[in-house]
Amino acid sequence: MGKSEDVGYRGLVFDIQRFSLHDGPGIRTLVFLKGCPLRCLWCDNPESQNTEPEIAESPIRCIRCGNCFHVCPTGAISPDRWFIDRQKCIQCLKCVKICPSGARDLIGKEMSVEEVMKEIRKDEIFYRQSGGGVTFSGGEPAYQPQFTTCILKDCKEERIHTAVETCGAVPWKQLVRLLKFTDLVLYDLKHANPDEHKRLTGKSNDLIIDNLRKIVTYKNKMNLEVIVRIPLIPGCNDSKENILSIVEVLNSLNEIKKVHLLPYHELGISKYEKLNRKYILKGTPRLTKNSLEEMKSLFTHKGLQTHTIE
Ligand code: SF4
Ligand code: SF4
Repeated sequence: MGKSEDVGYRGLVFDIQRFSLHDGPGIRTLVFLKGCPLRCLWCDNPESQNTEPEIAESPIRCIRCGNCFHVCPTGAISPDRWFIDRQKCIQCLKCVKICPSGARDLIGKEMSVEEVMKEIRKDEIFYRQSGGGVTFSGGEPAYQPQFTTCILKDCKEERIHTAVETCGAVPWKQLVRLLKFTDLVLYDLKHANPDEHKRLTGKSNDLIIDNLRKIVTYKNKMNLEVIVRIPLIPGCNDSKENILSIVEVLNSLNEIKKVHLLPYHELGISKYEKLNRKYILKGTPRLTKNSLEEMKSLFTHKGLQTHTIE
């Protein structure tokens, strides 16, 4: 697949952030892709989950002009109902286009491979100077395998370091396409117990652990670096029993040496409000410094290096 063959591919991107320092080495551009097979209760990017574009609503920005109510063809919004009735909405986007204040905003922009590459290239000089590159996140980058693979391949041709953050809950065939052009995999693991994993994310961890085993085998052939990322969510997956079980899984793979720990935060709550969705974990306390240190020691005692990403 050469560059000329990439031309037709388009994908749904919901954000591109520059100058990130946390998702791989050096200064990085993060490309966030829409669509995810999981529904983690603590997800801080709920706008990433659906595979379709969707409308975020910020009543605080509304200037009460009434334009949107007049153009809505289905009555999904009206002077009596400001938030969209998602059952009635046909996604015509008339309300988004007419809103003068950005109170109704579209999440998810269709972009071509070349359009994304143009954004990525803007910071090439910083990648070179810092040892950085581009990281694909989401959502799940392997949910749009053709599109993501094309961009990864173009990055490799231009000698830009590539990282993919994946939840691993996708068929191996889909994931391995991306890995051929990836330098670093940031692999999420949320719970060691399949039933608990299903309760917290909507899916069992069977496929995720199976794919991680395959990646470890693949890693040696392809000179791929793999770092496992574990969100630490109080009351969900932070029990000593679960952490020790995760450590056991990782040690059974032999090749995993580095773990990123991501302590719980509530930065995504306002996004749920904009999507008119309920945030189930509201009020969950943050981890204390002591409990974080205790958890870290469970990894380090078993030979795993940890790095905390606050
Ligand atoms: S997208 Fe269209 S149908 Fe949906 S609320 Fe807006 S105007 Fe109404
Ligand atoms: S068009 Fe925008 S500013 Fe006007 S009423 Fe609708 S949401 Fe509010």
